[in-house]
Amino acid sequence: MKNNIVIELKNIEKSFGDNVILKDFNMTVRENEFLTLLGPSGCGKTTILRIIGGFESPDKGRVIFKGKDITDDEPYERRINTVFQKYALFPHLNVYDNVAFGLKIKKLEKKIVDKKVKEALKLVNLFGFEDRNIESLSGGQQQRIAIARALVNEPDVLLLDEPLGALDLKLRQDMQIELKKIQKQVGITFIYVTHDQEEALSMSDTIIVLNDGEIQQMGDPISIYNEPNNAFVADFIGESNIIRGRMLCDYKVDFLGHVFECVDKGFEKNEDVDIVIRPEDVKLVRGEGMLKGIVTNQVFYGVHYEMTVACQGFEWLVQSTVKNEAGEEVGIIIEPDLIHVMRLK
Ligand code: ATP
Repeated sequence: MKNNIVIELKNIEKSFGDNVILKDFNMTVRENEFLTLLGPSGCGKTTILRIIGGFESPDKGRVIFKGKDITDDEPYERRINTVFQKYALFPHLNVYDNVAFGLKIKKLEKKIVDKKVKEALKLVNLFGFEDRNIESLSGGQQQRIAIARALVNEPDVLLLDEPLGALDLKLRQDMQIELKKIQKQVGITFIYVTHDQEEALSMSDTIIVLNDGEIQQMGDPISIYNEPNNAFVADFIGESNIIRGRMLCDYKVDFLGHVFECVDKGFEKNEDVDIVIRPEDVKLVRGEGMLKGIVTNQVFYGVHYEMTVACQGFEWLVQSTVKNEAGEEVGIIIEPDLIHVMRLK
């Protein structure tokens, strides 16, 4: 059974001057969900987060929290906390006082503050760091303190705006695993903003792919990766070969001068379509294939080789554990179920 809805955005509109960012935007988020807003820079992710947090008011539409309209509530009145990319920690306070800040404002008893701060620090693996100066901590540790400071208030929803953006790759990957663990452990809803598709795929229960303030697709990571709705999603999530083609009839599509069997149906006869094929789904053979091409480049990436193959004026991107040398003539084979046919927008 699906969890209860915790947040609903209903018919949200938002412009900055003449710049329309969101037009009739709708979304729902469920309890305990790790939901990621994923899209290119400027597509409106942060604006959505700020509207949920109460830092920005929509021009139209409502923000509903557990069935209650909170559109006009101040940020501090919402059971929602935010972790920003710039950690916004207080440099003059030590770790303990940074984490305890919100609790002290609420004038909680010292004993309770102590207990909650310790629990939050344990959660982010920084128990024992209470007396340390903020400036003596690494970037990753500072970000964990920022997360502890948000979690200590026991919000129902945590908003995270590119929280790992300032960290180097290895640390970012470690923190991704840790954040996901923390979210499962505390069982609260995370709404996470990123433009990094790998980050979105590795952490989320649900991904919303956005472009120009519009939802392109919403779904779990596997379905978004394997069944992109359109060429934008396919291109944004992972790498893709995108080729213009023509659907001849059900289960037959023509592209690059060859008629391929596919598993798609329900298109108009001879409808123009986009064909999306993942680089790992293109098979190169030394003999005859469905298409003929010449390997133009080959790079080794540790686990796989990446080749580009010129064919009928198109350059294929191919990933494989088998190497083909540049200059080699190859056959190209694509299985029917690995051909994704997309309607043109
Ligand atoms: P990024 O990943 O670069 O942070 P984003 O998807 O989060 O991008 P937003 O920050 O929501 O995008 O911005 C969407 C658009 O709204 C951008 O064109 C931005 O310049 C504009 N914008 C955001 N805030 C304001 C503001 N306060 N005043 C004017 N324009 C704004």
